[in-house]
Amino acid sequence: MRFKLILFLFAVTSVLAAASPEGIPRELARERASRISSVRYQLQLTLVPHAPSVSGHEEVRFSLNSAGTVLLDFREGSAAKLMVNGTAAPANIENGHITLPGSSLHTGENLVSMDFTAPVAPAGKAITRFEDKDDNSEYIYTLFVPMDADMAFPCFDQPDLKGRFRLELTAPATWTVISNTAAESDLRIGPGQRHTFFSETQPISTYLFAFAAGPFRKVHETPGLPGLYVRQSKFQRAEAEAPEVQEITSQGIKYLAEFFAQPFPFPKYDMVMLPGFAYGGMEHAGATFLREESILFRTAPTHSDLLNRDILLLHELTHQWFGDFTTMRWFDDLWLKEGFAQYMAYETLASLKPSENIWKRFYQAIKPAAYGIDSTKGTTPIYQDIPNLKDAKSAYGAIVYSKAPGILKQLAFVLGADNFREGLRLYLKGHAYANAEWSDLVHAFEHVSGKSLDPWASMWIRHRGMPQVQVEWSCDGQDHINHFSLSQHDVLGEGGVWPIAMQLRLSYPTGAPVAVRAQLDAEKADVKEALGKPCPQYVFANDQDYAYGRFLLDSRSRAAVMELLGSVADIFQRTLLWGSLWDSVREAELAPRDFLGLALRLVPAEQDEALAQNLIAHVITGLHRYVNTNTRTAIVPTAEALAADQMMHSPQQDLRIIWFRALRGVAENPAARVQLKGLLSGQASVPGVELRPLDRWSMVTAILALNDPEADSVYAAEQKRDSTGDGQKYAYVAAAARPTAAAKKQYFDDYVSNPARPEDWVEQSLATFNYWNESDLTLPYLKPALDALPQVKRQRKIFFGLAWLNAFIGGQQSPAALALVQEFLRIAPLDKDLRLKILEVSDELERTVKIRQRYP
Ligand SMILES: [Zn+2]
Repeated sequence: MRFKLILFLFAVTSVLAAASPEGIPRELARERASRISSVRYQLQLTLVPHAPSVSGHEEVRFSLNSAGTVLLDFREGSAAKLMVNGTAAPANIENGHITLPGSSLHTGENLVSMDFTAPVAPAGKAITRFEDKDDNSEYIYTLFVPMDADMAFPCFDQPDLKGRFRLELTAPATWTVISNTAAESDLRIGPGQRHTFFSETQPISTYLFAFAAGPFRKVHETPGLPGLYVRQSKFQRAEAEAPEVQEITSQGIKYLAEFFAQPFPFPKYDMVMLPGFAYGGMEHAGATFLREESILFRTAPTHSDLLNRDILLLHELTHQWFGDFTTMRWFDDLWLKEGFAQYMAYETLASLKPSENIWKRFYQAIKPAAYGIDSTKGTTPIYQDIPNLKDAKSAYGAIVYSKAPGILKQLAFVLGADNFREGLRLYLKGHAYANAEWSDLVHAFEHVSGKSLDPWASMWIRHRGMPQVQVEWSCDGQDHINHFSLSQHDVLGEGGVWPIAMQLRLSYPTGAPVAVRAQLDAEKADVKEALGKPCPQYVFANDQDYAYGRFLLDSRSRAAVMELLGSVADIFQRTLLWGSLWDSVREAELAPRDFLGLALRLVPAEQDEALAQNLIAHVITGLHRYVNTNTRTAIVPTAEALAADQMMHSPQQDLRIIWFRALRGVAENPAARVQLKGLLSGQASVPGVELRPLDRWSMVTAILALNDPEADSVYAAEQKRDSTGDGQKYAYVAAAARPTAAAKKQYFDDYVSNPARPEDWVEQSLATFNYWNESDLTLPYLKPALDALPQVKRQRKIFFGLAWLNAFIGGQQSPAALALVQEFLRIAPLDKDLRLKILEVSDELERTVKIRQRYP
């Protein structure tokens, strides 16, 4: 006991000795969590239009169980008039912390107050200003996740020091203000000012506190339905979309409250649409912020787009329980909230819309991204070590958003649906308005199921990478299976052996397929249940996509599947088989031109919009990356003609939209460009489809990138036609595709040295800058883009860094580009997480080079 105590004191002293560490090290967070409790923030903020900062006054109350110095987190702002329990103290900010002197603090309740200012900017700050160019109005909103609350006000910025917030906002009287709770009072004061008091929140983490202010309008206000806000210039558009958004959310609330056996945990639920918002959505407790473009589509939406919107709404909604009500203790368990939000969004939608084949969509939307990173040397375990909050951004990516839900689907299959649900109920009940870790959830699952999950969790949660599963089978002279075995190998060659539960499918020319449940816990296992069954036409080892891993077809099955894929009636099965064939292409085991030939032959008859969309995307990737110029030139006219024909004549509107997008994606030759220009000029149209601004601007982008002789006049005409705020952004995005060295230089300079450029403008233009046919022009920027990574990591929001790498590395296909990236990895002094991100993204370039070499 005593020895431990000494160690503990030593640890505390060492944290404090480095008076003001950079960022928020985990040790500091643990030390504070062990000493501090009952945190309350009272915040008064004044929002002034066009001002570069907000000013405020804050009172923080908290209990201490041991005396001594306490660090409060605050960076980039200024503080003054600091009082600690009535005694003045220096309001110095050092390394992002204000030191509260131990001499003024005591055990029990403490009161700290100060005045402060915090920066407001169009990009790069915790408080963002958006100027609506459509009506010159201004909006201000916060986005703190994962580590930026301390850029807006002094606080204990760690998820396990939950606080109750009381916010008072002074703002122009014409503005609407929204926060986590409803307004308790709203007074007009002074000339044109309003003063709003929000009621106190329940205990929430700092990253979940938020406000938005500006001339917002409440859309389709209906008692009993969640609130939906939009900027005033989009009010009419939003009125049309609001009922569906509110309806699916309202049904989701009912479903999740029942599923979790826990009523909606906060006093109200609003959603606020924000243009150019950095993420699809952010689940602030009681006040989710959504990217406006994810709800008010800028392109003609297909049925799949509408379902993706539902998934987004349900994902953020799930977080109100999983993330907001019960929060991970630290960002190393980020996957807990993201994995479950993603998984439960599909689970909920599958129940609300049973005819939609939601688990097929789960496979299409979730699995490729997960396998895409997990088979690279840049992958990480689901559980990620985050020693300092400043590194939390790098935990975001496909591992938490795609692999985590993928393995949760596997876990639900292993535990059974009832145990899975009961475990979640137990976990939430035990950690109401508090924090928990992965081990708490494991214990809940073990408690309800009576199964030990240790071996499962250690491989799937703590170990990186994924298995490739192979099937070997043969039949005897009487056409019965006489041998059937499964084997696995670690895709990264790191010796991993995973416990895998799966369902095998044996398919026959006539009659129903046979499903066999199988378990593979070692490198190899025989499947006795399959012996003696009639000899199948083909075998697929991941029927219904319960398992996580790469499932390639054995050679006999692959030959059969390529013969009869067009006649596989089950859409989920057909989707899985196409996915497996595409995996074979990416593994350089199937010639890309064979896949392209098959896809172009079968896709015209494909009536499933989501699968048709997948196949078209693969065709475009194959043409632009995996085949050489001669093969591409030979195939493109067929693809162009097919797209143009289907766009006009396909009987389904969704398919006409998909084929319109396909034409824009594959168009190269003069005839196809003429068709795009005809759609832009109004000489032609897609039957029944009204093209939206982004549809039009992406055609303009293609015309520019393809160096069409009329490119400049087409661009000028569109600029004249669409001078809206969005139009100005899209014009900027489109012009990044101009195939000239001067344009590339101008844009790159803008990216790295123009702080006034809104982040979403830059982010959206990265891909057009790196248009597929402009590798020669963009190669000179590959090295500067890699050199800029530390700056990108410091200044940009969570997902920007990956978009940056994907665009600059993804724009290249050559061995020279690959050599440049490898040399950079060899010599550059890089953070571990940046190195992993480069390894992750450059995997695709490595594959491209390998595929091109193998199939010249
Ligand atoms: Zn989320």
